[in-house]
Amino acid sequence: MGVRRLDLDAGIVVDDFLQTSRPGIFACGDVAQARELLSGERRILGLYPVAVQQGWIAGKNALGRRLAYRPQPSMNSLKGLSFRLMVVGRQQGEAIVARGKDWLRKLYLQDAKLQGFVLLGQVSQAGMYMDLLHRQRPLKTAELLGQGTGAGPGCRLPGTWAAG
Ligand SMILES: Cc1cc2nc3c(=O)[nH]c(=O)nc-3n(C[C@H](O)[C@H](O)[C@H](O)COP(=O)(O)OP(=O)(O)OC[C@H]3O[C@@H](n4cnc5c(N)ncnc54)[C@H](O)[C@@H]3O)c2cc1C
Repeated sequence: MGVRRLDLDAGIVVDDFLQTSRPGIFACGDVAQARELLSGERRILGLYPVAVQQGWIAGKNALGRRLAYRPQPSMNSLKGLSFRLMVVGRQQGEAIVARGKDWLRKLYLQDAKLQGFVLLGQVSQAGMYMDLLHRQRPLKTAELLGQGTGAGPGCRLPGTWAAG
């Protein structure tokens, strides 16, 4: 009986349950090429929290559960020197830029849906933007830069968004 090889690309290709092309064999973490949130393509994200999440799901599924992996966006963060920086998702579409004395925020929208964001200086809104990224629902400018976002009056909005 021939042994079915695993589908390989940049890593081990897995489905939405982190199962490889060989039934009953699962992969996770830096070796696994799983679906990415925004592109829908299978990619290695190379991130610790993603590896932990995938490990938990792959382990459960290897034991017979059928848990779907929640795709994540690419992300990078830096805390050091004298500033904090977060770059999440893709920098694609219209850019909404807001800045203050010691912070900068860039939000990227395509078809009114958040595609990515860059936070420099202040990163306290990261959770909210991450949630909007996951939901992929149409947004209005007010939701992105309105009450509670701390964007302030210094926002520079592209024409199509300036009308709100
Ligand atoms: C320098 C550096 C900085 C990073 N910084 C960040 C960061 O700031 N934030 C972030 O989210 N991610 C960061 N990462 C990525 C993060 O560390 C990885 O995404 C995560 O550790 C992947 O987990 P893993 O379990 O898939 O692989 P690993 O953590 O690499 O674990 C694989 C394990 O398998 C072992 N192993 C390898 N071959 C064999 C073998 N043949 N037999 C038995 N054991 C074997 C290895 O020794 C290792 O212990 C960083 C990575 C590096 C290298």
